[in-house]
Amino acid sequence: AIKLSNRCRLIKPSPTLSLSAKAKEMKDAGIDVISFSVGEPDFNTPEYIKASAHKAIDANFTRYTNNAGIPELRQAICEKLLRDNGLKYSPKEILVSPGAKAAIVNSLIAVCDDKDQVLMATPYWVSYPYQVALANAEPVYIPTCEEKGYKIQPADLEKAIKENPCSKVLIMNSPSNPTGTVYTQAELSDIAEICIKYNILVISDEIYERLVYDDAKHISIASISEEMKQRTIVINGVSKAYAMTGWRLGYAAGPGDIISAGGMVQEHTTSCVNSITQYACVTALKEEDDSIEKMRVEFARRRDFLYEELKKLPHITCFKPQGAFYIMPGIKWYLENNNQNIKTSDDFCAKLLDKYYVALVSGNSFGMEGTVRFSYANSIENIKEGLNRFASFLAELA
Ligand code: PLP
Repeated sequence: AIKLSNRCRLIKPSPTLSLSAKAKEMKDAGIDVISFSVGEPDFNTPEYIKASAHKAIDANFTRYTNNAGIPELRQAICEKLLRDNGLKYSPKEILVSPGAKAAIVNSLIAVCDDKDQVLMATPYWVSYPYQVALANAEPVYIPTCEEKGYKIQPADLEKAIKENPCSKVLIMNSPSNPTGTVYTQAELSDIAEICIKYNILVISDEIYERLVYDDAKHISIASISEEMKQRTIVINGVSKAYAMTGWRLGYAAGPGDIISAGGMVQEHTTSCVNSITQYACVTALKEEDDSIEKMRVEFARRRDFLYEELKKLPHITCFKPQGAFYIMPGIKWYLENNNQNIKTSDDFCAKLLDKYYVALVSGNSFGMEGTVRFSYANSIENIKEGLNRFASFLAELA
């Protein structure tokens, strides 16, 4: 047999995708599963965007495009970054990729060499460690805790950099998957100061930018100062804000040399994003209607409901998310106090799915044992029913 590369042997399937797949299998077998494991809006893509894609096909806009993205789209992205984030970029500093995922991987490959270290908070989004491995670099984890809102503390960042002298990149994700934490301007300033001091590049994954609640405000770390902008790659896309996960479009904005190196990686692996998607995304960004805000308002309503209900459950701890569509309650008490040999979050989730047909993602998948993640990209009725089953499971354990 042919030996796989070291890089590929480090990579495992995405636990969130495999859990969704198992839940779907059970559903297909006729079992009434409630899935809180999905990472995508349950809404359809807004009509005005779909109409634009039809137009692109009818106009035969179906060929390879410029590798970095069609000029109209890169221009529209520059306008968006200026309007929403106060960031001034030129189209040369924008790379359009098939999803924020690809935008992150292109950026990591553009800057990482063997042995370079990439810092990130735990809990982290499940793909980051593998994306780092694909770039031949090594992940370094900075622990955070519920009491401090799952936010990286400046002293912990500085300590991690000092202990890991090959630290080159910090991945930031605000609003965060899985915790829903949103960093304030002051917190980002403190992090920026350390990154500047130690010459760290920040890959700032802002894919959940539009989904923030109450008085939380999304701030891009690149907008902290011109010096910080020079060492930040802003990652964003249309998947979450515009309910366009299957269209595959994300982008990176940053210093021209890194963006063009990422563009080279893309040129030889992908060529370009689907032309129809690109065309429709110009419309998505430039002609936004009120359907986008309506989705946000609905997510906010579900978050409030889910949070309030979780808080009522005995021995469950819960950080109130300010953004994205996830909530990550703590279940430690139940791991320490049950008579069913449930010792880990993985055991907990497996049993919950088998017995009560509720799919959650184990905190272990995010490097955070003792927690579980709910996605509230689901209807209020399903959330209600899922919570009833979750409560019955807890009662059985206690
Ligand atoms: N970044 C985070 C934190 C995510 O949760 C996701 C999707 O789950 C992505 C990036 C990927 O987005 P895209 O669909 O644009 O590749």
